[in-house]
Amino acid sequence: MSSNIKSTSGLECSGSNLSPTDIIDILGTEYGGFEHARRIDPIEEVVYTILSQHTSDHNSTNAFEKLMRRYGTLKAVARADVSEIAETISSGGLARIKAPRIKTILNLILKKCGSLDISFLSKLPLHEAKAWLRDLPGIGPKSAGVILCFSLGMPAMAVDTHVYRVSKRLGLIGPRVNVEDAHEILENMVSPDQVYPFHAALITHGRRTCKARIPNCAQCKLAYNCPSRK
Ligand code: SF4
Repeated sequence: MSSNIKSTSGLECSGSNLSPTDIIDILGTEYGGFEHARRIDPIEEVVYTILSQHTSDHNSTNAFEKLMRRYGTLKAVARADVSEIAETISSGGLARIKAPRIKTILNLILKKCGSLDISFLSKLPLHEAKAWLRDLPGIGPKSAGVILCFSLGMPAMAVDTHVYRVSKRLGLIGPRVNVEDAHEILENMVSPDQVYPFHAALITHGRRTCKARIPNCAQCKLAYNCPSRK
């Protein structure tokens, strides 16, 4: 196993004896590997990401499908009445916030780019692509990471609640590192081709084993090297 990982934030981390590569390898074996699964058009990913904020995958998928069934294209969504959009996506929760956000974002992109094609982002340096997305209302580091990584295949880390919790428990990041800083720290720990499997390993482990309320340390393949094991 590799030696201790150091946080680049200046905040001390509690110290795991596992490197990110160890974690990817061990959890990849445990969960059957981490292939890129979902790849949708980048602008669809933007809308899906807004819909997925503060709700489950099931609810956001349902809301996205209803939206596309009703309007057919996202260009039509951009023209639609905002209260009608809210009614359509109500199953995804927070519809009165998400509907105007989606409409505003689509119209901003149409104004900036002349179309809803944002695939040009994959040609930009990573930090510029992130900054472009984060200029859009409601797009934070996690949403930008999801859009760039999942849809455009770029090496951007997305830190959701599972990734954040597992990283802290494993001592990859210090206890006082905030979620925004965690994006850069975790992203910089691995080579670009490892960013997606690293994200997938941590999120899968958080969902299946290292759960929020009661982590299943007895069954955890990382337990021997985990400073938080119970
Ligand atoms: S040993 Fe427990 S706390 Fe540590 S990663 Fe495994 S499940 Fe999480």
